[in-house]
Order: sequence, then structure tokens, then C-alpha cells
Amino acid sequence: MDLGLEGKVALVTASSEGIGKACALELARCGAGVVICARREDVLDRAREEMAEETGRQIAAISADLTSAADIDAVVERTVAEFGRIDVLVTNAGGPPSGGFMDFDDDAWMRAVDLNLMSVVRLNRAVAPLMRDGGGGSIVNLTSISVKEPLKGLVLSNAIRAGVVGLSKTLANELGPDGIRVNVVCPGFTATERMTELFEARAEREGKTYDEIAGGIFASVPLGKFAEPADIARMVAYLSSDAAQYVTGVTVQVDGGFVKGLL
Ligand code: NAD
Repeated sequence: MDLGLEGKVALVTASSEGIGKACALELARCGAGVVICARREDVLDRAREEMAEETGRQIAAISADLTSAADIDAVVERTVAEFGRIDVLVTNAGGPPSGGFMDFDDDAWMRAVDLNLMSVVRLNRAVAPLMRDGGGGSIVNLTSISVKEPLKGLVLSNAIRAGVVGLSKTLANELGPDGIRVNVVCPGFTATERMTELFEARAEREGKTYDEIAGGIFASVPLGKFAEPADIARMVAYLSSDAAQYVTGVTVQVDGGFVKGLL
């Protein structure tokens, strides 16, 4: 299947490691020029070099903190300055801390809103007019299976990411006439640093071992394995591409069957 991503320009945020990095790499493998961003310049530069070497594509790396509105504006401006346009936007960010409802004060809630909701609002708002002027585009907002089935000990993710789904569905309606598609991808348990940290934190909270926590979750995945970042990235690449030209407004999980509800 030709995805039609050859020569397209993609901006993928929070992409020096984990799922974001896998998405950027997959888009570059499919022929897109890619801009990656994250906070730590050394890690980001290593990721840029790896991707450029493997794919031979133009990859740019911009250091940015996604909780900063000014940094987000700067990333979008520099992408346009270097590549001339943006065809694909993939919004990803670090995850909020884990914990129960009584563990977080207002400041913690607002930090998570900035990281996991406002970064998506700001990126979509900055990029949509550019896509409209360029004749269309594809936005994929990455969230979590927590938007389909709230996860134990992840109240910030469970509550705040739901806003991204409401936003994305609204934007699919508003921006469809401009040729801009907006979809949501929800990773299931995916083998990254973040997953290890979450299992460790939950083991400590519940007085269990890491293996007990990991084993319990593992047993609830019908396909019997955790996702690799590349599993998420292939779905993101598909939704980003012309192959998905009639797909907008969907929220799709890539979770090995973890979510047991109908939708
Ligand atoms: P990860 O820790 O492996 O990678 C996170 C990336 O985000 C890194 O590149 C990091 O530098 C960047 N980042 C973090 N905070 C940032 C900030 N303020 N500004 C800019 N960049 C920032 O994590 P991951 O597992 O790839 O997860 C990515 C997202 O997907 C997170 O929001 C996570 O909660 C969510 N998620 C992960 C899983 C999983 O099982 N791994 C499942 C569902 C959802």
C-alpha cells in the first residue's frame, strides 16, 4: 500500500524517546521530512542523528518544553522556516505523574493540564491555519487507553486526556471542510521508560513486586504481549497518510485487546 507520505513534512512532538520517537522514525521511513522536539538537547540530537542516518531524510531537532506556550510557537515557526509547510502533526507529550485522587493539589492538576491538554490545544491551534492555507493535512493526537478505560492510579491521565478526545472530535467537524483530518490514537501498555516507571510506582503504592504488577496487566492483554513503540507508530503513520483520506474523528486504541468495552 502506498501511504503517499513521500515528500510530506511532519512535526512530531515529544519525540526523542519512546512512542514519539518511533512515530517520527516511521514517518521518515515512509518518506516524510520530520521535525522532532523534546526538552533535553543531547538526547534529542542523538535521536535526530539516528533517524537521519537510517532513513536519509531531512530531520530537524528543536529543543522545547511542551508546557510552554512560547516554546510551542517557536517549534511551529522554526518548522515552517526550515521546511516551508506542515502536512502532518503528531502531538505527543510526557505522561502526568501517577497517583490517586487525594495525592494531587491544584498545582499538580494545572501542570498536567498544561502538559497533556493545553499542549495539544496550542499545537492544533498553531498548525491548523498553516494546513488550511496549504490545502489540508492530517493531525493525530496521541493519548492513552485511559480515555476508553480509566486506569488504576492514573487519575490525572484518566481525567485530562478525555478532553483531548472531545477537542479532536470537535476539530474533525470544524476543520474537515478545510481538508484537515483529526484523529486520536490511544496506546495500550507499551514497552518504554514510562511503562517501567508506572509499574514501579504502582508496585510501591500497592506493596507488591514489579513482576506482580507487570504480570497482572500482562494477563489482561488478549494478545499476550506488551506493545512495542513501532506498533503504535504504524497506526499513526497510516492515519497521517493519504491512505486514510476518508478517516477523521476516530479514537482508535492499539492495545492488544486490553480495552474490553464495545467502542
Ligand atoms: P517516554 O518517557 O518513553 O517518552 C516521553 C517523551 O516525551 C520523551 O521524548 C521526553 O523527552 C518527552 N517529554 C516529556 N516531557 C516533555 C515536555 N514537557 N516537553 C517536551 N518533551 C517532553 O514515554 P512514552 O511511553 O513514549 O509515552 C509517551 C506518551 O504516551 C506519554 O504521555 C504517556 O503517558 C503516553 N502513554 C504511554 C503508554 C505506555 O505504556 N508507554 C501507554 C499509554 C499512553
